[in-house]
Amino acid sequence: MLTDLADVLRGAGLPVREMPGWKTRGVNGWGINGPFGGLVHHTGTAAAAAGDYPSLHVVRGGRSDLQGPLAQLGLGRSGVWYVIAAGYCNHAGPTDDPDFANPRAIGVECENPGGSTPWPAVQYASLVTGCRALGDHYSIRWRGHKEAAVPQGRKVDPNLDMNKLRNRIAAHRPAPTGTDFLEDLMAKVTFVDANEMTNLIAQGVSKTEARKRATVTYPDGTAALAGTLNFLSSALRDLAVLKADVAALKKGTKA
Ligand SMILES: [Zn+2]
Repeated sequence: MLTDLADVLRGAGLPVREMPGWKTRGVNGWGINGPFGGLVHHTGTAAAAAGDYPSLHVVRGGRSDLQGPLAQLGLGRSGVWYVIAAGYCNHAGPTDDPDFANPRAIGVECENPGGSTPWPAVQYASLVTGCRALGDHYSIRWRGHKEAAVPQGRKVDPNLDMNKLRNRIAAHRPAPTGTDFLEDLMAKVTFVDANEMTNLIAQGVSKTEARKRATVTYPDGTAALAGTLNFLSSALRDLAVLKADVAALKKGTKA
């Protein structure tokens, strides 16, 4: 059972909704091997269906002609990932490669009616990020259902250019975490204080000189963060004074 699906997606910074019971859900309670591959689908549910992931009911419970669950994961229009099952799912049918068949492949059923209906940018971006995270975690690559299904032409989903999607997944740079993030924090930071530069120029200082004087260099990002926090707290103090002035003016106690 792939009980780490939710954590992998959440670890990539993605919004995740765990469907109760998902960790033990699978066709007949079966698990899957690997996974060794991943298949992307679109649900084909009508665009008029309301909600973020109107296909949830059928993906989790199946259809009269196909036992559920129909995919481990769902992807809503808003880019939210629905974690539905950790075990075997009926999403692939006959395929050209056992690594991309139900016993070995995970399926992502993305909410889209098919045809030429475009994907919301936020949903596509979430698919890229999620496929990258799952691909890295399980060492799997992604194919479209329409690519793996046999006989050829049996399936048309997903209505995406799969080569473009794979390129986007490969080029995706995961958000900095752990030591990368610390290295970013420790890097030297230089910036120009635009307000200060404007003030200096107004005082007759040349633009070049003003830029030089208004340039602030912090030895590392932590100091820059501290500087920003100082600035914010002084801005909040200014705001408090301003509020008190306004209140006083309203009462007529201040000229
Ligand atoms: Zn499909």
